[in-house]
Amino acid sequence: MHSRSSELFRAAQKRIPGGVNSPVRAFRNVDGEPFFVERAEGSRIWDVDGNEYIDYVGSWGPAILGHAPKAVVDAVRETATRGLSFGIPNSLEVELAELICQWMPSIEKIRMVNSGTEAAMSCIRLARGFTGRDKIIKFDGCYHGHVDALLVKSGSGALTHGRPDSAGVPKDLAALTISLPFNDVDLVRKAFRENEIGAVILEPIPANAGLYFPREGFLSTVRDECTKHGALLIFDEVMTGFRVARGGAQEIYGIKPDLTALGKIIGGGLPVGAFGGRAEIMDQLSPDGPVYQAGTLSGNPLAMAAGLAQLRELERIDGWNKLEKLGAQFEDRARDAIAPAKAGITFHRIGSMFCLFFAGGPIVDLAGAQRSDLKAFARFFHACLKRGVYFAPSQFETGFISTAHSSSDVERTVVVMREAITEIAR
Ligand SMILES: *Cc1c(COP(=O)(O)O)cnc(C)c1O
Repeated sequence: MHSRSSELFRAAQKRIPGGVNSPVRAFRNVDGEPFFVERAEGSRIWDVDGNEYIDYVGSWGPAILGHAPKAVVDAVRETATRGLSFGIPNSLEVELAELICQWMPSIEKIRMVNSGTEAAMSCIRLARGFTGRDKIIKFDGCYHGHVDALLVKSGSGALTHGRPDSAGVPKDLAALTISLPFNDVDLVRKAFRENEIGAVILEPIPANAGLYFPREGFLSTVRDECTKHGALLIFDEVMTGFRVARGGAQEIYGIKPDLTALGKIIGGGLPVGAFGGRAEIMDQLSPDGPVYQAGTLSGNPLAMAAGLAQLRELERIDGWNKLEKLGAQFEDRARDAIAPAKAGITFHRIGSMFCLFFAGGPIVDLAGAQRSDLKAFARFFHACLKRGVYFAPSQFETGFISTAHSSSDVERTVVVMREAITEIAR
C-alpha cells in the first residue's frame, strides 16, 4: 500500500525502534501498520493521507475534552509567551496542587513529575522508605508504567506483546514484587500472612488489560489488610483520576488510599504525572526527608497551565455528568449492535471508559480477559478503522469517550460497529 503513512512508517523504522516511541502504537497486536496523524480536533483525527476518524483512544486517556480544546490551547499559548521552563517555583504549580488536593481529599500533599511511570515509581520508593520494608504486592494485569519493580505480570503493551516480564529487569528486584490475581481477597490475606509487605499498588478500576471492575468488598479488604499490617495502599489513578468522577475511583468506591499516582488528564495532553497522599508520608521526600526524588522539568509551567485549564473546564461544563450520559447512550446502542455477534462479546463500561472483550463473561481478572479471541478483535478493529472509527489497536486497552463526542458521533460509531460485526462473521 502506497500511502504517506506507510512511507513515514518505513522511515520511522529506520531510526526509531519498531518505528514508534511506545510499543502499542505499532499496531502489532492487530497485525497492521499505524497511521500518522496530520491533526486532531474535538472527537476527530485526520491522518496524513486525508482520512478522518472518530477517535476513541484520546491519546490513551488525557484528551477528556477531546483534541485541542480551546480552553487548554489558549492557556498553553498565553503561558508560553512568558517562558517555557524555569526550574524555579512558579504559581501554577501551587494552583494545580491546591486544586488536586481539594478534589481528592486523600491527597494532603502532592509532587509533580513528568509521566505516570515516574509517579508510580516514586510512590513505590516513598512507600519503601516510609515503611522500611521492600516487598510489594501488585495485581496481574494492572499496569503502572514501565517501572522495573512493577513490570511483573503487568498490563498494557507489556501484556499484548506476550512478554509480561521485561528483559533487563533484575531477578532480585522482581523477587520483591508479589503479583496476585485481581479480586482474590483470600490470596491477598495469605500474602500478608506470609510476607512483610511494605505496600500494595493497584488500579482501583483495572483498565490496562481491557477494563474490569473490583468486586464488592475487594478494595475495602485490601484497605483493611494494609492498615492492619502497617503497609501503605497506593492507588494508581493515572487513568481513572478525574475521569470516572471528579474525585477519581477513590471517590466512587469510598476508599482512602495512603498514596495516589496521577497522570494523563492532569496534564491536559502535555507530559505530566503527579503523586501525593498523607502529609506525614509525603514529608519523607527530599528536601524535608530522606527519600530522594527530583525532576528538571517537573512542575513545568506549560504543563501546569494545560492541566489547570483542562480540569477547570471539565468542572465548568459539568463534564462528568455529560460523559455519563454519552457513555450510557453508547452502551445502550453498542449492546444492540454487538448482540448478533456469533461469539460472545462482553461489553464493560464505567462513565466514559469502555471495553469490548471478544469473550463471554463474566470477566473479573486478567485470566478472564485473556480468554478473548484476539483474531476476531483484530478483524473487528480493522473493519471499524476502514469505516472511520478508531478504537485502540489492542484487545487489552480501554476506550475513551470525550466531552467533544456528540450524540451523532455515537450513532455513527454504532452503525460502523454493526457493519463490522457483520463483516467479521462472514
Ligand atoms: C498510562 C498509565 C501509566 C503510565 O503512565 P505514562 O505516562 O505512560 O508513563 C501508569 N498507570 C496507569 C494506570 C496507566 O494507565
